[in-house]
Amino acid sequence: MRSIIGIELHIQVNRVGSKLFCSCPTNYYSAEANRNTCPVCLGLPGSLPVVNYSVIEKATRLALALSSRISGSLIFVRKHYFYPDLPKNYQISQYDRAGMVPFASGGYLDIGFGGSSKRIRIRRINIEEDPAKISYPEGDPLKSPYSLIDYNRSGMPLLEIVTEADMESSKEVRAFLEKILTLVDYLDICDPDLEGAFRVDANISIEGGERVEVKNIGSLRDVEKAINYELTRQRNIIRAGGSVKRETRHWDSARGVTVTSRAKEYEEDYRYFPDPDLPPIEITKEFIDNVSSNMPELPWVRAERFIESYGLSRYEANVLTSRRWLADYFENALKYYGNPSKLADLLINDFLGIVNEHGGSPRVVKGSPDKVGKLLSFLDRGVISIKILKQILPDVVLRDLDPEEIIRSRGLDVISDRSVIEKLVDEVFRENPKAVEDAKKNPKAINFLIGKVMAKTRGKAHPAIVREVVARKLRE
Ligand SMILES: [Zn+2]
Repeated sequence: MRSIIGIELHIQVNRVGSKLFCSCPTNYYSAEANRNTCPVCLGLPGSLPVVNYSVIEKATRLALALSSRISGSLIFVRKHYFYPDLPKNYQISQYDRAGMVPFASGGYLDIGFGGSSKRIRIRRINIEEDPAKISYPEGDPLKSPYSLIDYNRSGMPLLEIVTEADMESSKEVRAFLEKILTLVDYLDICDPDLEGAFRVDANISIEGGERVEVKNIGSLRDVEKAINYELTRQRNIIRAGGSVKRETRHWDSARGVTVTSRAKEYEEDYRYFPDPDLPPIEITKEFIDNVSSNMPELPWVRAERFIESYGLSRYEANVLTSRRWLADYFENALKYYGNPSKLADLLINDFLGIVNEHGGSPRVVKGSPDKVGKLLSFLDRGVISIKILKQILPDVVLRDLDPEEIIRSRGLDVISDRSVIEKLVDEVFRENPKAVEDAKKNPKAINFLIGKVMAKTRGKAHPAIVREVVARKLRE
């Protein structure tokens, strides 16, 4: 039984200074509730929306990166529904029927999957506003005595991406989402790691059956779980001889199930019509050309460059280019340390391990790339061992401490100075005459002497040099 999945993805444009139709700031994550508000985003009568052109520019970037056709005219429409998070009783959005057009249509994104590549077609891209945010003090609306509304989110710009039903498993959907989220990070549209940065609606069906829409899924892990749950549910119905009902469900993350939504709206209920407060905006060829000539390097182009210029594996290149800050960090550290594969290995394993342990956000990274480069060159020059490097790394990454300073103040440097080691070996030879005689006859006994030297330095002497010096002195 083949599964058929298409998705609608809403991405918050959180990398612009102000909301879609007013000048309120977009930093609602850190702001006090209802602080970032004005008559426009509170939906007060008589207020008039004014379009933020940066959002149009960002939407154009996305359309270009996905090879979508940009409509010549940007038409905002009113989508009517009644909900406490929507004081105007309509959301300003876009529509693709009755003379109204989406922002862009068509296009595609290729995802690497199971060693091969698969093309996921894009149906359309739209610009719309986010409603306010409702929260329930008890978590569950039915158990909460009241609900709270935060209008900081009201009017936040969203980009809606709708795909064709080209995906067949939750893993393909995840691969698509991961690639899109990396893309919007590179295009400076959205920080995908901020809470609430994206939401997914998935249209899921089994070939020949009716389609079920699962709405409002907020994390990659939940998308995978919700799709798997829904596919199993539908297959079980079909196996039992029943038929799947066409409906809207939502994902209950706490219980790990999809549930029938009570509210049911049809397209015609929304009574879409062009917003009279927002006359159509012409998207000229000059505007598109201008955006096109200022496009940042795309993540997949950068991954190819990492493979070709630095000799990285595809896996390494994909991980390092998955976020722009990480790829930048890698390339900046390379200016101070010339071995790309050793650097990649440290960043992917130890460095990202530390970052993820502290929430995964680049904001925890305080240490500049040159310091990580410096650490690796200390390792190469034998100043520190790999064990010491791993011990110091968290302080360099999280606290921006200087590696040289840490090594000196904590006395962590490897003793590789031959004259120092020679002196230590002489001391050990004087103190252990019998062991020296033994070692001259029995080569295995040399380890006892090496152990004595290491003990004198609390493990900091360079073991290879100690072995070499001891062996030479035994022959003398
Ligand atoms: Zn406002």
